[in-house]
Amino acid sequence: MPPYQVNVDQLRSLRDELTHRIEAIESDVQHKKEPVEKDFAEQVTQRENDEVLHAIDSEAHQTVMLIDAALARIEEGNYGVCTACGIEIPEKRLSAVPYATTCVNCAE
Ligand SMILES: [Zn+2]
Repeated sequence: MPPYQVNVDQLRSLRDELTHRIEAIESDVQHKKEPVEKDFAEQVTQRENDEVLHAIDSEAHQTVMLIDAALARIEEGNYGVCTACGIEIPEKRLSAVPYATTCVNCAE
């Protein structure tokens, strides 16, 4: 088994999950753009709801980008090394955050 195969699997399934979530959110937001008669309170709730959805959506997009970067680093052979201080990121951290680019110390 190539090194970091476990992380690759983890990254890929996480990526799938996020992609599905993004699709669900975006089709939901799309759906809400249909003209509907709503009272003011409902409009406010709707707007707050949309903001939350947008926040989740952009966070998911960002994580997908981090995942792609991590997969690229695995291919290049420099995955698992802290980009700030150059030490090897402990396996425990990588299994918790497989797309981490820094060790815990540098992340803080
Ligand atoms: Zn570091």
